[in-house]
Amino acid sequence: MKEQKYPLSWKKDDFSIKIFCSIPNIATGIFLKSGKANFVIDPGDGILRDLNTEIGTKQILGISDIFVTHGHHDHIGGVWSLLTYLRVMRKGSPLTIHHPEGCVEIESILNAFEQVYAKSISYKLTLQSIDETTGFTQNNVLIKPFRVVHKEFLSDGSKREVPALGYNFSYKNKTICYGGDTAYCDELVNHARNADLAIIEAGHKDDEPDDMHMTLKEAKSIGNTAKEYFLVHVPE
Ligand SMILES: [Zn+2]
Repeated sequence: MKEQKYPLSWKKDDFSIKIFCSIPNIATGIFLKSGKANFVIDPGDGILRDLNTEIGTKQILGISDIFVTHGHHDHIGGVWSLLTYLRVMRKGSPLTIHHPEGCVEIESILNAFEQVYAKSISYKLTLQSIDETTGFTQNNVLIKPFRVVHKEFLSDGSKREVPALGYNFSYKNKTICYGGDTAYCDELVNHARNADLAIIEAGHKDDEPDDMHMTLKEAKSIGNTAKEYFLVHVPE
C-alpha cells in the first residue's frame, strides 16, 4: 500500500489517475487521463478547483466523460459547478455523464441544469444510464461497469440500498479498478483481482463487517489481490 497523501497519483506511460480528495462525507474527485482522453470520476465538492489547479481550463473543456458511481453528495457535489463552468467557458465538444440506472440525484441535477440554461448550453450533454454491466469503449479506453452493494440511512434510521457501480478502466493492457463506495462483495473482489491499480474504499470504522462500507481489513484483502492499490474513504 502506498502512503496516503492527497492527491494520490498513479501513472504508467500515458495512462494516469489522480485522486484529489477522498474524505468520507466531504468529497471524492478523480481525474483519469489516457492518451488524449480526459475523464472525471465521481466529481465531489471541490473538483472544479482541483481540476483548474491540475490541468487548467483548456483541458477541462476537453473532458469527454464523467463516470458517477452513486448519487451521494461526496461523490457528485461538484457536478453543478462543473457543468455551469463548462457552459460559461463555451465548451464545444460533447459531454457524457455515465451513472447507475435509478440514480435520481444526478438525473435531478441534469434536469435542473437543462431547465435553467435551456437556451445557452454550448455543448451536447448526454446522460447515459447504465443498467447492463457490459463493457464499452470511449476514447480508446475500455470501461467495464460492475454492480456493488451500498446503502444509505432513511430518516427513521432504517437503511435502503442505493444504485451503485464500480468501474474498471483498461487502456493499453493496463487496468484500473475503482470500486466506489461498497460493502465487501464478490463483484469487487473479481474486478480488483490482478488489476494494475485498485482504488478501494475502507469507509467502515469498526472491525465488524458492515453492509454499507468495508472495514480496513476487508479493503486491504481486496487491495492485495491487485498489483498496487490505494485505500480511499478511510475514516479519520
Ligand atoms: Zn456513498
